[in-house]
Amino acid sequence: MSGWRFKRPDGLPLPQPTEEAQPFFDALREHRLVVQRCASCEALVHPPRAMCGTCRAVRFDWVAMRGAGTVYSHVVTRQAVHPAFAGHTPLATVEVELAEGPRLYSNLVDVPPEEIVIGMAVEVVFVAVAEGVVLPLFRRAH
Ligand SMILES: [Zn+2]
Repeated sequence: MSGWRFKRPDGLPLPQPTEEAQPFFDALREHRLVVQRCASCEALVHPPRAMCGTCRAVRFDWVAMRGAGTVYSHVVTRQAVHPAFAGHTPLATVEVELAEGPRLYSNLVDVPPEEIVIGMAVEVVFVAVAEGVVLPLFRRAH
């Protein structure tokens, strides 16, 4: 279980972007949350992919999201199911539905797991977790 190499200073795994996802992570470094928009049918697509799931087009634009959303779903992991997560439980994972429609998985900052409620309003906060790596985490909307 020690074969994973890409970890944050706090020990958690780092994302390993695919070629399609690299622009998403590049924008995060500039504190912009972007998603793909199909150049043919204009569907908003997330996570990033090579082909539109609606019309099968393969060309996309990247559009900025406002960063506002609501908790669509959440789960609290209480056991470290991988050594990387030892000392990081309970760990709340949320599925955030952005105001524009796309959903993404993330974590909340400064919200105890027992206070997470489906439908709660959240807003993005850009957190540098390692050199050159920024993640879109969320906090209670103010
Ligand atoms: Zn499309």
